[in-house]
Amino acid sequence: MAKKDHKKSLSFSESVNHMVDRAFAVLDMDPGIANAIKACDAIIQVNFNVNIRGKIEVFTGWRATHSNHRLPAKGGIRYAPIVSQDEVEALASLMTYKCAIVDVPFGGSKGGLLIDPANYTRDEMQAITRRFARELIRKGFLSPATNVPAPDMGTGEREMAWIADTYKHLHPEDINYAACVTGKPVAHGGIRGRTEATGRGVVYSIREFFRHPDDMKAAGFKDGLGGKRIIVQGLGNVGYHAARLLDEEDDASIIAVIERDGVVINDNGLPIANLRQYINEHKTIKGFPDATFSENGQAALEMDCDILIPAAMEAQINADNADKIKTKLIVEAANGPTTFDADEILREKGISILPDAYVNAGGVTVSYFEWIRNLSHIRFGRMERRFDETRGQHLITAMESLTNATVPDWIKNEIVRGADELDLVRSGLDDTMRMAYQELSTVMKENDKIKDFRTAAYVVAVNKISRSYLDIGVY
Ligand code: GLU
Repeated sequence: MAKKDHKKSLSFSESVNHMVDRAFAVLDMDPGIANAIKACDAIIQVNFNVNIRGKIEVFTGWRATHSNHRLPAKGGIRYAPIVSQDEVEALASLMTYKCAIVDVPFGGSKGGLLIDPANYTRDEMQAITRRFARELIRKGFLSPATNVPAPDMGTGEREMAWIADTYKHLHPEDINYAACVTGKPVAHGGIRGRTEATGRGVVYSIREFFRHPDDMKAAGFKDGLGGKRIIVQGLGNVGYHAARLLDEEDDASIIAVIERDGVVINDNGLPIANLRQYINEHKTIKGFPDATFSENGQAALEMDCDILIPAAMEAQINADNADKIKTKLIVEAANGPTTFDADEILREKGISILPDAYVNAGGVTVSYFEWIRNLSHIRFGRMERRFDETRGQHLITAMESLTNATVPDWIKNEIVRGADELDLVRSGLDDTMRMAYQELSTVMKENDKIKDFRTAAYVVAVNKISRSYLDIGVY
């Protein structure tokens, strides 16, 4: 491959910016506007001390706000032993594009704390998290109106509950305190379906792809999702829910799962719920029954399959392995799993890629629903559920009395049942992922300079963002 290899020189944020530049080129956008859109508005670094087992430890964290054209700015907080300012900036910019693609009216932000959570007890993690949250709140980087974090790698419901409680103590007069963070436990203002949302959104994006015969054909598929051979890298929160749904609801075969310590392979498909159970118990995938184990997880990315779902770290598909990837479709469940150079190689090879900024937007979509729920102080469905049930019952009674026939029980149950919060969240998520896909697909069909989903996604995003800047007269 006679391609210039940027791999060593391009940082994560440069890699994202290069990809976005393709959209600016297609749109022939004024370079001033392009630079304004790409620039990160603000970034804060905090260094704070926590007393850990009698010793003072200094922790370093960041929060980047990439854009404020919509408020609040939104995005997760990552806890990881390797995280940097550049990474946080890149991830914050992806949040801006992601929100625009799925029409979530937020700016983009991201946070990171340099820590290996495995080295600390629950109480220590609580002290560290509360201290980090206090720093961000005091410095204006966390509030329901301006900047709202969420879970990301290494964080979950637990950390979000601590952050919300810390904010509440500092702002007892703010009745909307619960909206200062999303991804909280349901008992503390969280929303049903948030934990699975990103993984479920990934699956909704794949299902929508398979509803578009032209896109399927372009990727080399003759028939639907059932029976497709899928490799998933990373069985964390996102990868697990995506793989489980594909395995259980779509009749697809997850033939390999790559984790930190290697890969498990079974050509007939792995039972994902059992595998996750096994990992929880044994802290490894090694020894999982009815599967072949290999320590070389990276090599498994190059195995022959129909769909490859990277759901772990960034830069997993890079200039070193891109040429050896043998899949028809890459579905980017992780943020930034494909580097710019790899993307160029894959495009040349004709491999279709559903990009991160679209595919994993289900998380922030349901965060948006949670934020609205917190501001309205009422769970979705509470007012109308029983009303809908009664109306459904009347409909059945009317139908039966007019026709003198009996409606079968299963149809009756479906018609009578009023939607609860989880039904509504899933419906809103499904609609969001479908509509966004259709927008990308239309943009690709209407503009023959756009040959891939990533450029289409960034074209959609930067069009919306630049329109919003122009409307409010920033330029
Ligand atoms: N961390 C998630 C992401 O990368 C979720 C962000 C959010 O819900 O605000 O999209």
